[in-house]
Amino acid sequence: GRQPVIAGNWKMNGRMPGATATIADLAARLATRPGAACAVVICPPAPLLPVLREILGANSRIALGGQDCHAGTSGAHTGDVAAEMLADAGAAYCIVGHSERRADHGEDDRSVAAKAVAAHRAGLTAIVCVGETLAEREAGRALDIVAGQLDGSLPDGATPANTIIAYEPVWAIGTGRTPTTDDVAAMHRHMRAHIAKRDAALGDCRLLYGGSVKAANAAELMAVADVDGALVGGASLAVDDFWPIIETC
Ligand code: 13P
Repeated sequence: GRQPVIAGNWKMNGRMPGATATIADLAARLATRPGAACAVVICPPAPLLPVLREILGANSRIALGGQDCHAGTSGAHTGDVAAEMLADAGAAYCIVGHSERRADHGEDDRSVAAKAVAAHRAGLTAIVCVGETLAEREAGRALDIVAGQLDGSLPDGATPANTIIAYEPVWAIGTGRTPTTDDVAAMHRHMRAHIAKRDAALGDCRLLYGGSVKAANAAELMAVADVDGALVGGASLAVDDFWPIIETC
């Protein structure tokens, strides 16, 4: 079976000393539950990676991830961070193609695929994000839009070991709105069939749901067929909110 993943995307949140207290608290709670079946990943702002890594130690139950990377290894790209630098700083994962990056920084499927290649090159597991807008869903185009994003954003060389896919409908992010469990089931079934058509092995990638996941809806969302975990924004910032989501798996 596929190991579930509960990943927290802190986005541009997390200051000192609160961030270190949060990660220490989460690590302490996980230590009380050694049998927890899921992988737990925290993607903090990049400057926090080394300090959180230091607190967790090398073999922590909590893995760290970046929220974005540049496609290249080094060079004249002011403000950008290479995947290798994230790995140096203690990351094992990197989110690529989050809808906020696609919207705020004009990232398209092609650049997202290049970033996923960079993550793989650096030994990171890429968490590739896809998801339709509200207008696309209302036009009945959600399945097609997401299939197109998968075609363009998943690079050759993607495998279930180095790639996780997160379905995050844009209209569900930070809004408190979620698709129905039937809609999530239909989308995840469609995504798995679509990637398996491209490459049978790819069909075993973990497929996460993201968008307004919280304690009150996590259990029903995680119970949906073909949902292998969650990518959590707001509810990953405080341990009291995040912990019940981890406990669903
Ligand atoms: P929220 O959980 O805050 O809706 O954010 C989801 C998300 O974008 C995670 O990457």
